[in-house]
Amino acid sequence: MGLFTPALHRQRHQFVIDFVKRKKPKKVLDLGCCECVLLKQLKFHREIELLVGLDIDGVQVKKKMHGLAPISTDYLQPSYDQLRIELYQGSVTEKDARLRGFDLVTSIELIEHLTLADVELFSEVVFGYLTPEAVIVSTPNSDFNPFLPGLVGFRHSDHKFEWTRAEFKSWAMKVCLQYGYEVELTGVGQAPPGQQERVGFCSQIGVFHRLGGKERYNMFDEDAEDVFSYTLLYSIIYPSLHDNNILRRVLMCEVVYWAEKLKRRWIAEETGERDDTYDLCQAKGEGGECFRASERHVDTEETQTAACGAEMKTLVDQEKGDGELFWTHSQPDSEKWRRRVSVPLAVLWCCCPKVSVLSGSVSNLRLLLMDEPGVKLSQDGSAVLLNHQEQDLDDDEEEHRADFEDSGYAEARQCPPSAEPAEDWEANV
Ligand code: SAH
Repeated sequence: MGLFTPALHRQRHQFVIDFVKRKKPKKVLDLGCCECVLLKQLKFHREIELLVGLDIDGVQVKKKMHGLAPISTDYLQPSYDQLRIELYQGSVTEKDARLRGFDLVTSIELIEHLTLADVELFSEVVFGYLTPEAVIVSTPNSDFNPFLPGLVGFRHSDHKFEWTRAEFKSWAMKVCLQYGYEVELTGVGQAPPGQQERVGFCSQIGVFHRLGGKERYNMFDEDAEDVFSYTLLYSIIYPSLHDNNILRRVLMCEVVYWAEKLKRRWIAEETGERDDTYDLCQAKGEGGECFRASERHVDTEETQTAACGAEMKTLVDQEKGDGELFWTHSQPDSEKWRRRVSVPLAVLWCCCPKVSVLSGSVSNLRLLLMDEPGVKLSQDGSAVLLNHQEQDLDDDEEEHRADFEDSGYAEARQCPPSAEPAEDWEANV
């Protein structure tokens, strides 16, 4: 209709999003989710741990449901947030125990598609059985219809009714009395200047809150049998650092990244060889100005690595005694003597904030890395071993590397530490 800016459907969804931002519900259910437009916006609000959509029309739901899947950053830089998304086919007039006990249920432009008898069932199912803490119901306000140019009859051919504000209020009050809720009536879509009082909002909205807090949930049907009447169409669990496998992969990615960096700096300092990142940092120091914005992070990282390098040296100097402990000959019998650089876990843990946050303690770090094929630990498990020359891999390691890359997490290995975008990491190698 072009009467509203932003468009009316956007304003309705924004109303829900604003509510979510304020109240931070953990479990949200969208009734009549259709093509999942609202759910796709809600999934970015990561206080939500369970996001569920229900619609009677499975074909509509299936059309775009894959847009709810995690994107690559969700895998490459997972957080501790947890999110599960589920979509069901079923009718709001039927009960299903899986949808009980939510913090928020939304019903946006749904009830007017139901017969009045089904609206009664809807009320009973939503307010009497699902008993969420809050419910947002939106429906057309027929008082506003004269302002909609060219409208004859209802706003949509499938609408069974369109209520005046008085009718909506009377239904809402009845629900409150019957099921123990209170309601605030509001809306979106402003009337023309001077008309707001008289006609109200284009879409009327009731925001219901359950009285009596959480205890009430248990009062209903405590002994009732669980009913499962909906069909699960889609279910996805977002990657989270609460998943131990994911935590280990991210940790390994960080450890490999920082260990290599420390190694390069240490070698540069030991041999006086040029280290590109080191030069970059030096030159920057002299020139005063940063290079490109994408290289700016190098400065912080270099300072950090420099500090770590110094610490590593101290540790090594203290330990080496014979001057050989830092450099190990891994295959004394073989003709090919290879040198390895050993980066103590204690150094990695102290120097890399993300490593210490993820692992908690050095001993935990050791445990988490122990069975990781992508990281080689010293025999006593106190240090990460790296080949002095990257190309100097033995067969064993080639195999490990292949396993690792086959694990589907190869991309993650290339990932930068969480604070930096991918180009930065690339600029740095
Ligand atoms: N909430 C969406 C779509 C509203 S259109 C939005 O804000 O854009 C109404 C939706 O309700 C349709 O997708 C329709 O399939 C669904 N619907 C109609 N009757 C239903 C019922 N009994 N149970 C569940 N969904 C229903």
